[in-house]
Amino acid sequence: MTSATTAARAGALVVSELFGPTLQGEGPSAGRLASFIRLSGCNLSCTWCDTPWTWRWSDHDRVAEQHPMRVPDVAAWALSHPAPLYVITGGEPLLQARALAVLVAELLATGARVEIETNGTLLPPASICGKGVTFNVSPKLGNAAMPLRRRIKAAALRFYAASGQAVFKFVVTRPSDLDEIAELERAHRLRPIWVMPEGTHSSAVLAGLQGLADEVVARGWNLTPRLHVLAWEDARGH
Ligand code: SF4
Repeated sequence: MTSATTAARAGALVVSELFGPTLQGEGPSAGRLASFIRLSGCNLSCTWCDTPWTWRWSDHDRVAEQHPMRVPDVAAWALSHPAPLYVITGGEPLLQARALAVLVAELLATGARVEIETNGTLLPPASICGKGVTFNVSPKLGNAAMPLRRRIKAAALRFYAASGQAVFKFVVTRPSDLDEIAELERAHRLRPIWVMPEGTHSSAVLAGLQGLADEVVARGWNLTPRLHVLAWEDARGH
């Protein structure tokens, strides 16, 4: 058993990295000051994943990248890096839902908002869904190269769609992705929709935004940049 597994079973969090204050780069809060708590581990394996150091141990050092931490220590870090918004991301943070619920309560007690970035395959426990929490749900399309049954979980998407606490963000790599989004929107009543171009360099993100803008507006959706990439390229810690 790894030390990370032991930590998770003991109610601690397995952290990938803590950074901020910086800017939220994606979705409705893009441009807002935020501190980030990135948790390690993911239940999916998207080919274009921009944070492979959270889960892809074939080419990343698990021991170096996983940091078991007590929840009070993560909360203390957050208090010493204050921001009006805390973003909890991954990997897939809801894999650690029990300890995460304790941390979310601590963060909300500071008066800050909390955004939890999830791939939308897992149902969050009620203890995580308090006032002040928004879920940035990013269901994966065929472009992530995984079977539909692995990346789309209807019950979880239905829950988020009905929660009034979720936005739905899709990573687009090709024009046909937009029809796939429209199908998911219809099937699971997903609203509001945010479309984001894939890319870890500013030139790719900018080209994606320019290519998508007209069609996104025509479909009545929202378009989000990857502001951290435009500002800092692919540097970690932003
Ligand atoms: S769900 Fe997110 S963290 Fe997991 S493999 Fe896909 S892009 Fe990477």
